[in-house]
Amino acid sequence: MERPLDVAVCGAGIAGLAAAVLLHQAGHRVRVHERDAHAATRDQGGSIGIDGAIGRRVIERMGLDDVFAAVSHPEDATGRVVDAAGTVIRPPRIDPESRDAEVERPELRRMLLDHLPADTVRWGHRLRSLDERDGRPHLTFEDGTDAVADLVVGGDGAWSRVRASVGGTEPVYSGITFLDRRFPDVDRDFPSIAATIQRGTLFAHTAGLGLIAQRIGGNARVYVAFRAELDHVRSAPPAALRADLERTFTAAGWDPSLTEFTTAGEEPGTVRPVFEHPVGHRWDGRVPATGRRVAATLVGDAAHLQSPFCALGTNNALLDAADLVDALDGAGTVEDALAAYESRMWRRAAAAAEAAHASIRAFMHDEAPAEHLRRRSTASCRPDPAVDLDDPWAPEYLPARFGSGARAAAE
Ligand SMILES: Cc1cc2nc3c(=O)[nH]c(=O)nc-3n(C[C@H](O)[C@H](O)[C@H](O)COP(=O)(O)OP(=O)(O)OC[C@H]3O[C@@H](n4cnc5c(N)ncnc54)[C@H](O)[C@@H]3O)c2cc1C
Repeated sequence: MERPLDVAVCGAGIAGLAAAVLLHQAGHRVRVHERDAHAATRDQGGSIGIDGAIGRRVIERMGLDDVFAAVSHPEDATGRVVDAAGTVIRPPRIDPESRDAEVERPELRRMLLDHLPADTVRWGHRLRSLDERDGRPHLTFEDGTDAVADLVVGGDGAWSRVRASVGGTEPVYSGITFLDRRFPDVDRDFPSIAATIQRGTLFAHTAGLGLIAQRIGGNARVYVAFRAELDHVRSAPPAALRADLERTFTAAGWDPSLTEFTTAGEEPGTVRPVFEHPVGHRWDGRVPATGRRVAATLVGDAAHLQSPFCALGTNNALLDAADLVDALDGAGTVEDALAAYESRMWRRAAAAAEAAHASIRAFMHDEAPAEHLRRRSTASCRPDPAVDLDDPWAPEYLPARFGSGARAAAE
């Protein structure tokens, strides 16, 4: 595409900001509309594993690898699995060649924000709806203002308003909820928790119960995972859920060093039900009022929300941004570019969604942890080091990355 476009990005999460940075670098005029009042309005969630073969390549392409290296933690990009007694059943795999790294979400977001021109983001500007006016996308915001653009990029997350306007569907509850518990300054205030986690991520699970404990820098965060009805977790106070979990982990015979993740600290934690898009989620891009295709598309969780068990959501959001910009670069019209971008992204997203769905099922399986270890020996979210992943569209990429069923899921 030769002419610069006026692009309205909805959402200043990682997906929206990554798209904004790459679109700006490609010469387009970008405005980001974000509902939050500022970048630190709410807790952004736990740390993110950036895969050296996926997300990191996009960061390199942005020219931000040195900045990323300064704020990320390669030493925490390891994981080990223990059983309910605390015995290691899968040790960490240390790969000296790996470029994987953990990063705190606010750091990643700040890195992207710092590489956009001042005033690109309109904070406190919540999208209400998207329709089409005179052949162009027309955005209406909750504060009564509106805007038109040549292209709208919906990076507005799991409950995307852009998606609702272009024929996408809402994610469904996985049946699993996390109680998200934070342990700041873990060495000083929670030394026994620090000693149990050691470095990186500790996974522990039995039938229907799990712990994912992350250590990054001086802080720790623990996701206590359990099966539950959605109505129950939405109505029960977090303190009551925490007390229930303490009893359940103890009754199931978990070692006190692990049960402590539910008991330590004052704050009960934040309840986070895990939602997923069905494998193969797509949309037709037509606004209901006219039935015509509008120049709008989706990136990140708005496009493909998946369980975090493959640690791919942000990595794929970064790839979405790169693919969208490449598609715009290579096409004569916005419509052609969106068709090219979406077919590529849908193919990748379907394979990742299937892998993440299988992974959460195996993790919380009645026969956990054996079922999860069995699955990991045949299908993995991690790339096979023997395969060249420079081109994520090489025919061998999907099976290498996600296991042999992945190619079928993507077709
Ligand atoms: C526990 C957990 C661990 C994870 N670990 C990893 C990992 O290790 N690696 C990995 O790759 N992924 C991981 N993920 C997935 C990752 O968090 C997400 O895929 C990623 O953050 C999605 O970014 P996003 O920008 O699409 O969405 P979000 O981060 O949700 O951003 C959406 C933005 O849009 C804004 N917004 C929403 N509605 C509107 C509106 N109407 N108008 C304007 N703005 C709006 C929101 O305020 C928000 O700023 C994990 C997820 C979870 C839950």
